[in-house]
Amino acid sequence: VAEPWIVHKFGGTSVATAERYRGVVRILADLREPRQAVVVSAMGGLTDALLDLVSAAARRDQAMYPALEKVRERLYRAIDDLLHDEPRRTLRRLVDGDLADLADVLRATWLLGAASREATDLVSGYGELWSAATLAAALRDAGRSAIALDAREVLQVEWKGAPTPELRLDESRRRLEAWLATELPAHTDVLVITGFVASDARGVPTTLGRNGSDYSASIFSALLGSKDLTIWTDVDGVLSADPRVVPEAVVLPEMSYREAMELAYFGAKVLHPSTLAPAVETGAVVKIRNTFAPDRPGTRIWSGGRSAFAVKGFATIDGMALVNLEGSHMIGVPGIAMRLFSALKDAGVSVVMISQASSEHSICFVVPERDADATRAAVERAFFAERVQGAIQSLEVVPGCAILAAVGDEMAGQVGVAARFFQALGDAHVNVRAIAQGSSERNISVVVDAADQRRALRAAHAGFYLSRQTLSIGLLGPGTVGSALLGQLAEQADHLRRRFNLDLRVRAIADSRRMALAETAIELPRWREALDAGEPVDLDRLVAHVHADHLPHAVLVDCTASEQIGARYGDWLRDGIHVVTPNKKANSGPLEGYQALRDVRGVHYLYETTVGAGLPILHTVRDLVQTGDAVTRIEGILSGTLSYLFNVYDGSVPFSSLVRTCKELGYTEPDPRDDLSGTDVARKIVILAREAGFDLELADVALEGLAPPALAGASVGEFLDRLSEHDGEMEARVREARDAGQVLRFVGAVDRDGASVGLRRYPKDHAFARIHLTDNIVQFTTRRYADNPLVVQGPGAGPDVTAGGIFADLLRLGAYLGASR
Ligand code: ADP
Ligand code: ASP
Ligand code: MG
Repeated sequence: VAEPWIVHKFGGTSVATAERYRGVVRILADLREPRQAVVVSAMGGLTDALLDLVSAAARRDQAMYPALEKVRERLYRAIDDLLHDEPRRTLRRLVDGDLADLADVLRATWLLGAASREATDLVSGYGELWSAATLAAALRDAGRSAIALDAREVLQVEWKGAPTPELRLDESRRRLEAWLATELPAHTDVLVITGFVASDARGVPTTLGRNGSDYSASIFSALLGSKDLTIWTDVDGVLSADPRVVPEAVVLPEMSYREAMELAYFGAKVLHPSTLAPAVETGAVVKIRNTFAPDRPGTRIWSGGRSAFAVKGFATIDGMALVNLEGSHMIGVPGIAMRLFSALKDAGVSVVMISQASSEHSICFVVPERDADATRAAVERAFFAERVQGAIQSLEVVPGCAILAAVGDEMAGQVGVAARFFQALGDAHVNVRAIAQGSSERNISVVVDAADQRRALRAAHAGFYLSRQTLSIGLLGPGTVGSALLGQLAEQADHLRRRFNLDLRVRAIADSRRMALAETAIELPRWREALDAGEPVDLDRLVAHVHADHLPHAVLVDCTASEQIGARYGDWLRDGIHVVTPNKKANSGPLEGYQALRDVRGVHYLYETTVGAGLPILHTVRDLVQTGDAVTRIEGILSGTLSYLFNVYDGSVPFSSLVRTCKELGYTEPDPRDDLSGTDVARKIVILAREAGFDLELADVALEGLAPPALAGASVGEFLDRLSEHDGEMEARVREARDAGQVLRFVGAVDRDGASVGLRRYPKDHAFARIHLTDNIVQFTTRRYADNPLVVQGPGAGPDVTAGGIFADLLRLGAYLGASR
């Protein structure tokens, strides 16, 4: 007995150039299958070009001639690159002959000024004829015994008004058997077959409709009795959604025939919708694989295809019109639906989706937009009497709609699938105009405005395929702290995703000049390159990008010290964007603004690192207050720089030299007055006080800074030089303290009587006297901690600990979001 045929189909992208044909020859050889039947499409884009020629001819457009030459050049280029000598000459002769015929048909069309169906079908099918001849020649050149079959000689179809013609199976089978018996040389190991083309009952050339080569392949697989069909294309298989719209789409390792059919029917271009019907009959396994990555497994479509996901895939079709028929007459009257749909059938309109509320007060259905007028006319005719009598009050036709379908066998009987679907659409602000769920529960379809289609698809996909804790992150200000945070995220992101299903995606980074935006996520280890290659900063665009509808949550991390950026938190929060910030400006600004930020519901505003960097200081206050304790006094050393200065300063070295050394070591702000002025500490006291329930404004803090007012206008250098003029005063203060057995500390304090910031003296055994380096220390006196205050102490400055604190806020946000959904 003869070896069984193994069938392969190569789509247009798989044979777009000579190089791609060579790739196909390689793939086929590597498979080492004894007998291969290879269905091939036209070179990518060629069918469109041919159809354009026909319409140009019908329009009598001179552009037709150069366009025809372009086709010839493209064919020659591929042929000359692939073949030599006699095979090249033979193929060129074939192409020349066809092009001459083609030119005649175009000329006739030109004269007629209209393209007949026959002319259009004949011309559009040439691409497949040339492709099959080219591939067969290339295979022979590679030592295979290959022969090409023109499917028009075999496939007989009949057009009956559907988008795909009906196959005359028995006749086609008879013809194929005859062809194989007479034309197929013995020992042929590759049979190359034209996709797309066929003949009608009169023997006139026609096609299977656009994208029909997939269907050709499955027909030939059935006719040849093959159980094995591989469709080679330019993606890794059937994906959970169209990858051009949803970059997060994943490859589905396997699926059932029914799922694949539903997806194809609802617009997944990867498969022609009729492809699977023959396979269902014969039980052939259909694989979808990537010509560009033949080592990958692809998707297996078979009757038992299962996967971990309830919803396998999403697809959309646009160009739809929603029709709504409403009337009191329809309640309880039998036969309305029958009359409606038979009227539509008579008008040749195919109904894509139907939905009727159980009140029967209205019927709503979807038809292709191009049939909208015919539909309106048909319905008005059918229900003329009712319309006149007023029993049917309204007939509404809404063009510009799209259908979004969620498909999956395992949706059946699973609770919560629809809820999740609609939640995702709702979160993305997609208005759902109509809903249909087949009772098979394998498909939920919704009608949305075509303008919402992409957003709807991405959102629905994200609702099922992304972690609920996927954060779309925008980082503003990648300075010392910001870049430390990016470094920490780069290290931990993978682990968090795998271990905790927390997906942190930095999708935007901006400094004061540039910004980098990424669709999925910026590659963190290389964020600097991304930013350098970025575009001029546009904060509104950045925010809109981060706040992507299809991702569950958006968060902006503000690592700047900018007041203007702080002023925008309110808008962001009210838009539903979470904010995480170490920037003190917003929280220490006017009380009203602060309260407004705290009042926004449904979003999280996290600012733990505005006080004490990574130390749990604000957290502690919050816990105290929320558990019903009352804070009576807060007192603390809240500046790492000033903490260090007074830990070291004992009068032996002049204060001004110490400041200079500190600056040289990078312990101070670029202008040391920013630290010495105490404003920063005052801001922290304000933030702490407010958290504890005191209504405090920055202006209410009695601030005694260390920067002499006389030097306010000086340059930094001048300031450092002239600070020595004040060394005497400082020395006197430290001596006085020492004589009393005390130390100097720069502290902020707040209680019911007010707030102050400045130098104070503490006994040598006081907690504030025994701190190290840049330690922060805060002491809370409360009703519960009345006699012995609660103390939080530790390193409270530096990029790493601050970044760590921001990171912790992000994780907290992830936890809140996980818990709330
Ligand atoms: P071919 O020329 O091989 O027939 P097509 O362009 O007809 O290829 O179909 C493959 C294309 O279908 C892919 O490049 C992809 O952009 C698109 N596509 C749409 N939806 C899906 C999906 N769910 N899975 C995979 N591809 C899809
Ligand atoms: N070449 C045809 C088209 O572009 C058929 C196919 O590629 O499937 O529609
Ligand atoms: Mg295709």
